[in-house]
Amino acid sequence: RPQIFALGNFRFSTFAEPSSKPNPPRVPNLIGGTFVDSQSSAFIDVINPATQEVVSQVPLTTKDEFKAAVSAAKQAFPAWRNTPVTTRQRIMFKLQELIRRDIDKLALNITTEQGKTLKDAHGDVFRGLEVVEHACGMASLQMGEYVSNVSHGIDTYSIREPLGVCAGICPFNFPAMIPLWMFPIAVTCGNTFVLKPSEKDPGASIILAELAMEAGLPNGVLNVVHGTNDVVNAICDDEDIKAISFVGSNIAGMHIYSRGSAKGKRVQSNMGAKNHAIVLPDAGIDATLNALVAAGFGAAGQRCMALSTVVFVGDSKLWEDKLVERAKALKVNSGTEPDADLGPVISKQAKDRIHRLVQSGIDSGARLLLDGRNIVVPGYEHGNFIGPTILTDVTPDMECYKEEIFGPVLLCMQAESLEDAISIVNGNRYGNGASIFTTSGIAARKFQTDIEAGQVGINVPIPVPLPFFSFTGSKASFAGDLNFYGKAGVNFFTQIKTVTQQWKDSTGGSAINLAMPTS
Ligand code: NAD
Repeated sequence: RPQIFALGNFRFSTFAEPSSKPNPPRVPNLIGGTFVDSQSSAFIDVINPATQEVVSQVPLTTKDEFKAAVSAAKQAFPAWRNTPVTTRQRIMFKLQELIRRDIDKLALNITTEQGKTLKDAHGDVFRGLEVVEHACGMASLQMGEYVSNVSHGIDTYSIREPLGVCAGICPFNFPAMIPLWMFPIAVTCGNTFVLKPSEKDPGASIILAELAMEAGLPNGVLNVVHGTNDVVNAICDDEDIKAISFVGSNIAGMHIYSRGSAKGKRVQSNMGAKNHAIVLPDAGIDATLNALVAAGFGAAGQRCMALSTVVFVGDSKLWEDKLVERAKALKVNSGTEPDADLGPVISKQAKDRIHRLVQSGIDSGARLLLDGRNIVVPGYEHGNFIGPTILTDVTPDMECYKEEIFGPVLLCMQAESLEDAISIVNGNRYGNGASIFTTSGIAARKFQTDIEAGQVGINVPIPVPLPFFSFTGSKASFAGDLNFYGKAGVNFFTQIKTVTQQWKDSTGGSAINLAMPTS
């Protein structure tokens, strides 16, 4: 088994001397440019889900430490917002170079703390890196508008200004990509930032914060605090925080959306999902089945855009046996093993929850075509592994269908027609993504028009847009009105100021006019 370390060497941390490192190491906060050990007496173990080894301990940041982080961000804001946008962009150019340099270290950290395969962990970093690349063009993205001569001698222009201190609250499933959806856009727009990583896998955020400092981000522009509900509530309530980016479950997301909004903040909240694939009998069978297996079981189903439900239309239901064959061939192993197709799920609690939802499906009449619940992985007997699991004859009233399972479980349903299939999908409360597999342009176009999901795939199983578009979940999968990254992301992290100026020769003077000005 390879030797694995969670946090690497903190170039900026108080743990610079190996002899002074507690074992397991404690994850530092980043406050005002310094990586500092929390004075908290409460820590949570970060656990390797393949082995149950404690890889580090994450603090429940104290109130004073949280205040210090917000205050550092507030103090850094005036100088940072007045730093030329070209300088801010150059720091992002440097950051993307450093992320590329350290991508293996980031990926190993992700696999150690989150469990996904090393190859998938590279993808996690890479999809975040693309947002950093996009932020390198911020001068164009943040451009205002200008209309000359809106009235005689009068012009109006708009400026997109940063908001001030912004915050990000992250889930466990993409430890690098999701922090990178947040802070690069926010800070390159001229904001300062307080990041709260997932308490389950905070290591990648700390490595990214180190890289951001190395890239030249001034002290206080990016701060990192750890913890759970208390620090999240402190973020929602703090008067100095102007906007919150959240990604995670619906329970937390709706709580943060309402609590933060009630305090007058902008909130963008990306939440849970139940992504469907509709398969028409005219689809290419091999490509479709491969796509279903990859998108259903990749990352052990722990992606918000994982395909968790297949609706087979007409005779395509005969493909279920072949789907099972392909899923059975996947190799479940520790993410550090080169042959692993899928790694463990994040925790024992997650594993129990997934088992319970599978059993509830069976109890309410679904048929189990493939059962991955009793899998044992040699050498990793204590890991939270679940093999690919497939249930069929699932109906919309079942708990396993209504709840997000967030594990390697694919549900199969059957429909008579494309219309029936679309109405099943639209009846589900979530609206993150939906895909269709077909060779009919007419069917694909109907699907694109009628489907109620924010991200639509046509023969594409995981249609997550690159950063020049935005991540556009809808219905219960999103709250707020400005999505993550792309133009919407820049709009989220900026407010518009309009300036109306008059420059005309006024030697003739003008009469006093009390009526509302018109042109
Ligand atoms: P989670 O909601 O449990 O945790 C997310 C964050 O919220 C963490 O930082 C956590 O500390 C905090 N938190 C959790 N419960 C809280 C509470 N009651 N009060 C205040 N803060 C709380 O989510 P998770 O299990 O880490 O992530 C998985 C979920 O995230 C899934 O539902 C998945 O679909 C969703 N997700 C959505 C997207 C998307 O873009 N739509 C992307 C990734 C993950």
